Amino acid sequence: MRRLAEPGLFERIADAAWLGRPANRETFEVFNPATGELLAELPDMGVDETRAAIERASEAQTEWAAQTARERSDTLWRWHQLIVRHTDDLATILTAEMGKPLAEAKSEVSHAAAYLQWYAEEANRIYGETIPAPSRDRRMLVIKQPIGVVGAITPWNFPASMVARKISPALAAGCTVVLKPAEQTPLVAGAMFALAERAGFPPGVVNLIYASDGDVVGRELCSHPKVRKISFTGSTEVGRLLMRQCSDQVKKLSLELGGNAPFIVFDDADVDAAVDGAIQAKFRNAGQTCVSANRLYVQSGVHDEFARKFTERVETLSVGDGFEAGVAIGPLIDTRARAKIEAHVADAVEKGGSIRCGGRRIDGVGTFYAPTVLTGISHTMRVAQEETFGPLAPIIRFDDADQVVREANDTIYGLAAYFYASNLSRVWRVAEALEYGMVGINTGRMSSEAAPFGGMKQSGIGREGSRHGLEDYLEMKYLCMGGI
Ligand code: NAD
Repeated sequence: MRRLAEPGLFERIADAAWLGRPANRETFEVFNPATGELLAELPDMGVDETRAAIERASEAQTEWAAQTARERSDTLWRWHQLIVRHTDDLATILTAEMGKPLAEAKSEVSHAAAYLQWYAEEANRIYGETIPAPSRDRRMLVIKQPIGVVGAITPWNFPASMVARKISPALAAGCTVVLKPAEQTPLVAGAMFALAERAGFPPGVVNLIYASDGDVVGRELCSHPKVRKISFTGSTEVGRLLMRQCSDQVKKLSLELGGNAPFIVFDDADVDAAVDGAIQAKFRNAGQTCVSANRLYVQSGVHDEFARKFTERVETLSVGDGFEAGVAIGPLIDTRARAKIEAHVADAVEKGGSIRCGGRRIDGVGTFYAPTVLTGISHTMRVAQEETFGPLAPIIRFDDADQVVREANDTIYGLAAYFYASNLSRVWRVAEALEYGMVGINTGRMSSEAAPFGGMKQSGIGREGSRHGLEDYLEMKYLCMGGI
């Protein structure tokens, strides 16, 4: 592990006393995917520790909800400040355990801090409403109250910002949280929780569970009656499982799941801008983002120019350890992720697709794969039907503008879509026709704490970020007073 400005922060990550004295003495290991270096051994927590954390969260919740909005806001703000102050250390931990380039890790930590700032402010704006009553002797109103204890489960691809995006609205609303980060990337979450402790959250308000087996902790969170809501980001497969597990108690659930984002370039697009946007939307985090441009549809009039310019840019992206200067593409999270990309490339080539660049793994300890462009792809190939989650850009040529929107919508997913066009009437029609929760128009990047993030269809339920993200952690209560 690289040197941190404050080594004590790293030591605190695995401090058993702070984690609520795990009963279980088993441990699991966390590795750097670029080098194979062992970074840490953490207590492998199970049902007992999860149950104890839920009890702590439940005991703390009433008192936390009773704090004034300003008091909750102030603690969130202090946490935000600590994260900003420790950006470099948090980014270093993040790059070490996840592999993304250090500059991307810093930008992720800033994004995480932005959620804390946003919800520190939003905590003060949890308004109810009054309703004009149908008779003179009544008063009718709506108040908003916290749901209660929230069980949160986060993925490895954005291990800092996903933690902040879930916890900050929950805390602002007056909920308490038990969070389980992904087993591949628990360290930056641990560091963020250590900073939460310094920020002064009362004991039991935020609780962390390290576990190598998501299933064990997930089952306990879903089945424990004191957990009133599950908030999950991860694969659609696990999302479906959690939905089933929550059904017995009709437990509330927010799901941020997989995607299969189309990126459409129409003939009237600014091709250079579209190339820039496609590089951003496709290769950030080595393509391991749920909003990654998974399939690029390019209209015939600009296809050859786009494919040439895009390939030239992709060939300049350097692959390597995220700590090395100038590296744009880090390692994939594991060998399974790389095998999926190889299977998608093999399927495409077998069915007539061509490799324009890349198309091979890079030898060495880390799980590296060269950024790849494929052309001659059709909508029915695996690479266009499934979420690849890697640095692989398949280009599909199209002629008919109506047909391309139908193909873009022909998926179980509905998270993010992008398109480039200049004709205003087309811009409106396509934006409205795409069945996606988020549409980037002439941009390859749209995530913001100020905007509602989330998907339609099997990409999820609910929204995170913005004022809408707060509503998912609030119950609405109608009060009716008579005899006035
Ligand atoms: P994953 O579903 O395998 O794991 C996500 C989390 O769920 C991890 O913490 C894991 O330990 C836990 N988990 C695994 N099995 C579980 C079970 N049976 N019960 C409870 N928890 C369990 O997903 P992943 O591979 O880590 O992440 C990649 C996926 O996440 C992709 O599909 C991606 O699109 C999606 N994702 C979505 C968003 C979004 O906001 N929509 C954001 C990031 C990632």
